[in-house]
Amino acid sequence: MSTPNVVDVVIFGGGIAGLWTLARLRRAGYSAVLLESGALGGIQTIAAQGIIHGGTKYALSGAVSDATQAIGDMPQRWRNCLAGEGELDLSRVRVLSRHQYLWSTEGIGSRMTGFFASKLMRSRMSAVDGAERPEPFQSAAFKGSVYRLEEPVLDLPSLVAELARQQGDGCFSIQPERVQLDPADPGCLKIEMPTGLLTLQAQQLVLAAGAGNQALLKKLGRKTPQMQRRPLHMLMARGPLPRLYAHCLGASANPRLTITSYPLAENEAVWHLGGQVAESGVTRDEIEHIAAGKAELAALLPWLDLNDVSWAARRIDRAEIATPGGKRPDSWHVDSQQGVITAWPTKLAFAPCLATDVLRCLEQSGIKPGNGDCTALADLPRPPLAQPPWNEVKIWN
Ligand SMILES: Cc1cc2nc3c(=O)[nH]c(=O)nc-3n(C[C@H](O)[C@H](O)[C@H](O)COP(=O)(O)OP(=O)(O)OC[C@H]3O[C@@H](n4cnc5c(N)ncnc54)[C@H](O)[C@@H]3O)c2cc1C
Repeated sequence: MSTPNVVDVVIFGGGIAGLWTLARLRRAGYSAVLLESGALGGIQTIAAQGIIHGGTKYALSGAVSDATQAIGDMPQRWRNCLAGEGELDLSRVRVLSRHQYLWSTEGIGSRMTGFFASKLMRSRMSAVDGAERPEPFQSAAFKGSVYRLEEPVLDLPSLVAELARQQGDGCFSIQPERVQLDPADPGCLKIEMPTGLLTLQAQQLVLAAGAGNQALLKKLGRKTPQMQRRPLHMLMARGPLPRLYAHCLGASANPRLTITSYPLAENEAVWHLGGQVAESGVTRDEIEHIAAGKAELAALLPWLDLNDVSWAARRIDRAEIATPGGKRPDSWHVDSQQGVITAWPTKLAFAPCLATDVLRCLEQSGIKPGNGDCTALADLPRPPLAQPPWNEVKIWN
């Protein structure tokens, strides 16, 4: 007989980290529930560009870093899931593009020739010419080079909807101020319900709440691990735009511009613009930033007709493990200390590695799948699905 209100694991946060972990734990036989304070699909997850990186973009500086090594396996691991043959079945998730492109402008192309010819790069990408190129690079006015990377781009609303379809029965909506955490006994949660105080006993907490991990750690009286935020100012362009999934090579290791597209109607798409333009844009206000985005597209793709395109800008922070100097961490981070696992994926693409590490931490702590009973949680509402950023825009400029 199972004891009421006892589960093996309580996960906080329903972004990619929490949803993937919930799915893996339940598949492994653990009784696990996920508590979400906002919407399933999270804050960063639904705002991401959906690229399952294989590390090529990080090798742009010419040096192979730890990040390049760690991320190299990710596209295949995700492709297995998308084919229904991996650790999760994501065969119903829509893939926006099976590959993405790197393009160089005329000036930078020759400088990078040696790099592209390197053995590492030859195995990861191939030059494409003529009709093989995506539409914007078929213009006679384009003088640079285009390379294809075998790295897929996912439809994130469809990924989130599918994970919610599979795992929604284990996900519950909470108001953080109504959840009491006990630093002396982290597995003992008290949730204020309309009917009274519900005690939920877990063997382990998993904090997968993105930027929310900081407040949860504070509630638990923990000073570590420490988190950092790296702000971005993303741009969106909406109108009669072709489908494009491409990074423009810049002078630094970070792409000058990363474009992903989301089709809205037959002749309408949203372009999501990231890369260096989003990093440097954090000091600009919305109007200045949109002007900078227009100027960047006019400089890089001057033959593109942007007359019927409208624009929006949106600020968002990446939440990650703190690093010296606030640099981008090389990989995902999972920290296990006295009944609490704290995790940040750093990249959506790393969610499978994060979940594998959570399972490993549970095994190392001697926590085995047991019987749980969380029927009392049924009185809690279910979290809604997060909306993609272009659906949240009130005014397009
Ligand atoms: C603009 C942008 C573009 C990106 N593009 C890419 C990309 O193309 N490819 C890639 O691999 N990565 C990309 N990333 C990185 C990727 O999005 C993140 O690493 C990943 O989504 C983080 O997932 P998460 O689950 O940790 O956090 P989130 O998605 O932020 O989810 C955290 C969840 O926790 C909830 N929460 C917070 N506090 C609490 C609480 N107290 N209790 C319960 N729940 C709580 C939040 O409501 C939220 O739902 C991008 C990031 C950004 C910002």
